[in-house]
Amino acid sequence: MGALTVIPVELGRRRADSALFLYLTDIGVELEIAYRLWVILGGPEPVVVDTGPPLDEAHRRGITDVRDIDSGLLQLGIRATDVRTVVLTHLHWDHAANASRFPNATFLAQRLEIDFFADHLREHPSMNRFFSHQAMLAELIATGRVRAVHGDQQLFAGVRTIKVGGHTPGSQMLVVDGSEGTLVITGDAIPLHRNYTDSIPSGIVVNTLEAIAALHRVRTLDAARLFTGHDLEPSLALARATHEQPPQAGGDHVEPH
Ligand SMILES: [Zn+2]
Repeated sequence: MGALTVIPVELGRRRADSALFLYLTDIGVELEIAYRLWVILGGPEPVVVDTGPPLDEAHRRGITDVRDIDSGLLQLGIRATDVRTVVLTHLHWDHAANASRFPNATFLAQRLEIDFFADHLREHPSMNRFFSHQAMLAELIATGRVRAVHGDQQLFAGVRTIKVGGHTPGSQMLVVDGSEGTLVITGDAIPLHRNYTDSIPSGIVVNTLEAIAALHRVRTLDAARLFTGHDLEPSLALARATHEQPPQAGGDHVEPH
């Protein structure tokens, strides 16, 4: 415990309207964003978080600096075909639609997210625009390759998930016991550092109140570092001054579960 590391792997960049990430903020002002997956190292085997965007969809949507998943993972000495566990923060195209590149993996997603994927309301263009490779994902779900996680759960030693919703019905964040303290992979519940620092909900939401609650929730975690979904800077170090208790020398929190 306490020895896990989170490695972000960038797979592309794009210019996009700020309001897509910062709720009704700076409408018409473009910013540059990054697309990534994350790898948790230090456990018995690497755990991949999200899949990044598939190449064809990345090109279709005008992503620049596109990098294939294999080259990104090989840099860490990992072959996608060897990965056995992929946790999906949610099922949007840029986080889950590259799942076919992990032919031997089991995927973990929130029950609500899986149910939403199958719901006819997801097929409405206003929702479906954020998905791609739907047939592939449906097949993975139908064949049991996507396992349901129910709410907040310990997934592995030192890795737990918290379900926050907001951005999608079953959006989840991963809380990792790292050597520098608690690390949080926020997915698109907190897509940019500014969402956290200025307390602005995600710009794409199915439930704005849940998106606001997600911002509050992450503040209760006493995290040392956030790995946000799309910021150009892959992580945000936090000053851990929110609690009175002094830092525990060499210690990590062990959360009851
Ligand atoms: Zn998303």
